[in-house]
Amino acid sequence: VNKKIDNFKNLVGENWVITDSDTLKSYLEDETPQGSKVKPVSDIIVVKPGESEELSKVMREANRRNIPVFVRGGGTGLVGGCVPTKKGIVVSMDRFKDIKVNDESLTATVGAGVTLEELKASVNKAKLSFPPHPGDETAQIGGLVSCDAGGASVVKTGTMRNFVMGLEIVLPTGETIRTGGRLVRDNVNAGKLMNFFIGTEGIFGIITEITLKLQKSQKARGIMIAPFDKKHNSLEVVPKILKSELTPEGIEYAERKTIELVSEVGREISPFEGGEAFLLLMFSEPNEEALYSGLEKLRKTLKKFGAKEPYFAETESEREKIMGIRSEFYPSLKPEMYKDLDICVPVDKTRDFISKLDEISKEYETYLHPYGHVGDGNLHVHIMQSENWSEEKYSSLEEDIYRTGTELGGTISGEHGVGEVKKKFLYLNLDKKSRILLKSLKKTLDPKNILNPGKVID
Ligand SMILES: Cc1cc2nc3c(=O)[nH]c(=O)nc-3n(C[C@H](O)[C@H](O)[C@H](O)COP(=O)(O)OP(=O)(O)OC[C@H]3O[C@@H](n4cnc5c(N)ncnc54)[C@H](O)[C@@H]3O)c2cc1C
Repeated sequence: VNKKIDNFKNLVGENWVITDSDTLKSYLEDETPQGSKVKPVSDIIVVKPGESEELSKVMREANRRNIPVFVRGGGTGLVGGCVPTKKGIVVSMDRFKDIKVNDESLTATVGAGVTLEELKASVNKAKLSFPPHPGDETAQIGGLVSCDAGGASVVKTGTMRNFVMGLEIVLPTGETIRTGGRLVRDNVNAGKLMNFFIGTEGIFGIITEITLKLQKSQKARGIMIAPFDKKHNSLEVVPKILKSELTPEGIEYAERKTIELVSEVGREISPFEGGEAFLLLMFSEPNEEALYSGLEKLRKTLKKFGAKEPYFAETESEREKIMGIRSEFYPSLKPEMYKDLDICVPVDKTRDFISKLDEISKEYETYLHPYGHVGDGNLHVHIMQSENWSEEKYSSLEEDIYRTGTELGGTISGEHGVGEVKKKFLYLNLDKKSRILLKSLKKTLDPKNILNPGKVID
């Protein structure tokens, strides 16, 4: 073991190999809820390379000695993707911190370890915008790209994938490749190869640098909360909103019981008032005229589908307050949460999905707090702790929900990924040939299966 540690210290420097057991503890888990937590091994060391060349040497060494490597970004993942499950090393990307914003090409080239918060700060400073905002700002850009994260505000723009223009990747065998760049169109590099590394959760390579597309910032912003007495009405109106003149950047769904829970943990929940379900509509437009003329028509559409008088937040502080309440959904549920599912169905099927979910809730005598990115068909469903439930009962409920989503043409993960937690349900979405193909691609790139072994596929 000592020899192994010395080798890595030689490659990245004495200070960048962590071996003391107290510090190591924080590298053994991510944010996966308790009922899905992956059991880590404690026999690991953490290696923190500072640049691609060092990482490349680390991977060559690991490959030569058959040492499993687990890549860790911000550790905010919800499916155990970065949790070390085999004796080996955790490669932390914390030191990849460069940020270069290019306001002529509307791009930012950043190190994989830059957090979402750091990226947003630099982009705002340049008076530009980066729309995706997956919930936890301590997530790293490398982690967000490798999970193809989404969040609440990508209805207009799509997920992280749509913002990636170029990647630098260190392969499991240690070679480095660059694909794409600051090109708006690139059907040689980006078109053929780059997408393969986006959303594949670090099983094919370690992303070290990312070039992201930025946008000009929008001047007129607003958030609307529309309460509905009948939750099905709120879901039926979503496709109509998507066809309307004013496309929101995000359409979120929540039910009254979830909002009440946020209130129980001590948060002021006005203006979420009245109604069984709520749509939270987020807008960003180039100017106020575009925003307000579109809003008038949208109000009519909402009314037609039974919305009560909506609340509209214009000022920065009102908007912040509402987004603050939205950010409290997850932490409010967390203490009693057992599993967090991330189903995505076609946008015209969310009503059917919620109806089926209601039936399932009744059958299991529980409430599932469905909420989330309904404008993309992506709803988070939460299995809460219940007294005297066996592990089998939790699993059976989980599988019933996954099957229901799948039968409606959906997927078991819209944005959180597969990691370790959802591997056993992969068969629901990937046919046998596709699973074999994925495994053979893994074998080609990582013949010794050292990078993120056991994640996504066995
Ligand atoms: C409160 C909260 C809210 C959240 N909201 C959202 C949301 O709205 N939308 C959403 O999509 N997700 C959300 N998430 C989940 C999580 O933030 C995302 O999955 C995010 O992409 C994880 O990034 P990370 O840097 O923390 O990665 P980690 O958790 O460290 O790792 C996740 C996976 O990515 C791999 N990985 C990390 N860095 C790299 C790299 N540089 N190269 C290759 N592979 C890498 C890891 O090996 C692992 O498989 C939320 C999580 C929390 C706790």
